Amino acid sequence: MKLTILGSGTSHGVPVVGCDCPICRSEDPRDKRMRASLYIEGDRGEKAIIDTGPEFRLQAIRAGIKKLDGIFLTHAHADHVHGLDDVRPLSRETPLPVYGNDETISEMKERFSYVFKETQRGGGKPRITPTVVSGPVILGGLTFTPIPVKHGMLDILGWKIEEKTADIGAAATDVAEKAPLPCVSKIFAVYLTDTSEIPAASRKIIGKPTVLIIGALRIRPHETHFSFEQALNAALEIGAEKVWLTHICHDCFHGEIIDYCRNFIKERGLTGISAEPSFDGLEITL
Ligand SMILES: [Zn+2]
Ligand SMILES: [Zn+2]
Ligand SMILES: [Zn+2]
Repeated sequence: MKLTILGSGTSHGVPVVGCDCPICRSEDPRDKRMRASLYIEGDRGEKAIIDTGPEFRLQAIRAGIKKLDGIFLTHAHADHVHGLDDVRPLSRETPLPVYGNDETISEMKERFSYVFKETQRGGGKPRITPTVVSGPVILGGLTFTPIPVKHGMLDILGWKIEEKTADIGAAATDVAEKAPLPCVSKIFAVYLTDTSEIPAASRKIIGKPTVLIIGALRIRPHETHFSFEQALNAALEIGAEKVWLTHICHDCFHGEIIDYCRNFIKERGLTGISAEPSFDGLEITL
């Protein structure tokens, strides 16, 4: 599967409206951060997205998104859902399922109430099917498992993304086409944005991901988001091999965050883990 970071910025994005700080004026393209979102492409052509922030339209055009099979929401804060209306052109043929926890789905329905009112026939509104999740969601060969985490006092979801791979042993292809394929849990990704605490029960669901994309706001602590250090410590506890930070604010240049991660690893003499800040447009293949 291929993952694309559509946005790596915090709620206000970077540059911040009206801000003249050196980071907001930076010419490094990696310092331009749209609101956080992840695009997932499965090996069998499945396409899904985690969160539809205010820049969804621009992000979808930039990444060449032509279809979606499912939308997975982490929570209903503006920076994660306010682009939902722009899935309209992708929902003409078939209504798009939108998955989230109970609170997120109710808030989304409130926020986009016009979508669910019978006001007109034909276009003009996205066709979406809100779905409260109680367990893993299967889209083709992809499995999305909800991971309950805390975002301050809010209960939100992270997502574990696994892909079934065919046993490509001799003559196995034919059988694999018909029979359900075994889920390989050794190589998978976990996406945890806007997290300030990972409950013990959720650590078990997370397992040991190959790729962990985790929200890390800044160096200074914050009530509802992990700092760089907290996110990296959580990644260490989880035992992720490759860590990408996301949901980043305008306190540091991209290059400074690279150095921060390098020092974190060097000071602790860690091996078998690498960590870096993500950036808009980053593609991760696994
Ligand atoms: Zn956010
Ligand atoms: Zn700034
Ligand atoms: Zn949030």
